[in-house]
Amino acid sequence: MRYVSPWQWSPYRGAVAGIRVLLGALGVSERGYVRRLVEDNNRRVTRHLERHGAGTVLLILPRCVKRKCCKLDPEGSLAGCLDCRECDLGDLARIAAAHGVRALVAFRSHIAYAMARREQPDLIIATACEDRLMKALRSVPEIPAMLAPLTDMERMCVNATFEPAWFEAQIALAVGAPGGERRVSCAHPGP
Ligand code: SF4
Repeated sequence: MRYVSPWQWSPYRGAVAGIRVLLGALGVSERGYVRRLVEDNNRRVTRHLERHGAGTVLLILPRCVKRKCCKLDPEGSLAGCLDCRECDLGDLARIAAAHGVRALVAFRSHIAYAMARREQPDLIIATACEDRLMKALRSVPEIPAMLAPLTDMERMCVNATFEPAWFEAQIALAVGAPGGERRVSCAHPGP
């Protein structure tokens, strides 16, 4: 079933951009507005998942969650984090493996968008700073995406944190319990 979102319509994207510019001109933080847009988006995606489930799920994290000691491969796969207990990426790697979904750290956002368009997962689950969440909604509006702001960061683009438990809850909503049958009601067209 085709996913429909207002982010697919250029007048909507233009209105959001205009409001963000206005907030900036007035010196008002856009954080509350962006978070409301993300919550609206997540409600829409939840309704879509309740009807259709998801056969293929892709987890995407930004490069700022990576620690100096992380041994990610050039593609950003979390496979090397499976046995690591040093940070939340290890927890997420194990959650992803238990549910049979793919997870990666996107070193460049445009590469992640290109991969999403190429592979067309039924669902993307991602975290990023507010600005990048807006960019994701604008860039790949045709793919349902559950989004969450990063929970904290040491400084801009360095040592950010996120909630693995939130990812786990969204995965369970989309595909059901680990090892269970996929909750999906429509055929996936494949890459
Ligand atoms: S802080 Fe934002 S722009 Fe910087 S790496 Fe993280 S998600 Fe990307």
